[in-house]
Amino acid sequence: MKNFSYSRAGTSQEAVTLIATIPNAKFLGGGTNLVDLMRENIEQPDALVDVTRLPSGGIAESAAGGVSIAASVRNTAVANHPIIRQRYPLLSQAILFGASGQIRNMATVGGNIMQRTRCYYFYDEAAKCNKRKPGSGCDAIDGFNRIHAILGASEYCIATHPSDMCVALAALDATVRVTGPDGERAIPLNEFHRLPGGTPHIETALKANELIASIELPPLPFARQSRYRKVRDRASYAFALVSVAAALETENGRIRNVRLALGGVAPKPWRAHEAERVLSGAEAGREIFRRAADTELGPARGFRYNSFKIELAKRTIVSVLSELVGDNQ
Ligand code: SF4
Repeated sequence: MKNFSYSRAGTSQEAVTLIATIPNAKFLGGGTNLVDLMRENIEQPDALVDVTRLPSGGIAESAAGGVSIAASVRNTAVANHPIIRQRYPLLSQAILFGASGQIRNMATVGGNIMQRTRCYYFYDEAAKCNKRKPGSGCDAIDGFNRIHAILGASEYCIATHPSDMCVALAALDATVRVTGPDGERAIPLNEFHRLPGGTPHIETALKANELIASIELPPLPFARQSRYRKVRDRASYAFALVSVAAALETENGRIRNVRLALGGVAPKPWRAHEAERVLSGAEAGREIFRRAADTELGPARGFRYNSFKIELAKRTIVSVLSELVGDNQ
């Protein structure tokens, strides 16, 4: 691993100022992804600015009736918090499915949002990878692409976003608050991560030297009735082949409110807007759930080893929505 300097910031503004003065510096949260990337020489920062001990509001109810979660809060604290478990159970479930207890204890909310793809070729310096080295090509497209994207990919990159937590945040319409040299701003989570297009190395809407300050969850009473389902090759230490985050409210058998997002299928957490449109106002049941899944996955494109994900995603959507209306057959 390359030598690097280390410093700890005392305030958000100090962190932003500090990183702006050091070329090629990175913010350090829990380090559960960044340190791996440094060991593999994929990330080689000259300096790390530790932001884990910035003053933090922790997890608090917001004035709007939602919840604010500081970026430095550990994943375990979010998953176990009574308000999150009661009001946003899909978020708690997504984090618990996301990693081992040891990793959850270290990983921060801000770091979870910023984690990078687990594409094998991205981690292999001998492979061609447009994300790691723009313009070099993409060995995954004709390679072993079992874990890769079926939605939102491009001819330059077909990697998936690895986070479980972000899939739940996408369904909840969370907002990311950031602070930077130009002050504070808010970015909807669903606009925070970018699709690869021709520039897969640009992964988020963060500007240079901006730091994630907090995540804001809006009040969403029907999210008490929500689920996160993760389908993977083994029960632990595996990323999602497909995951589904869903919240559903029905009235007299009709769908009054629905939120649906998919993980493991796209370069960003995939909010299923098309499926939601099909479901809104419809009579709840497996037939409409399947039609919604077919619509959402209509544009999906599989590659040699991952075409199975298309049907898997459809069946997982139907299964999770059915469970939410009490149909567990
Ligand atoms: Fe790199 Fe993306 Fe291709 Fe993977 S899929 S090798 S991350 S360009």
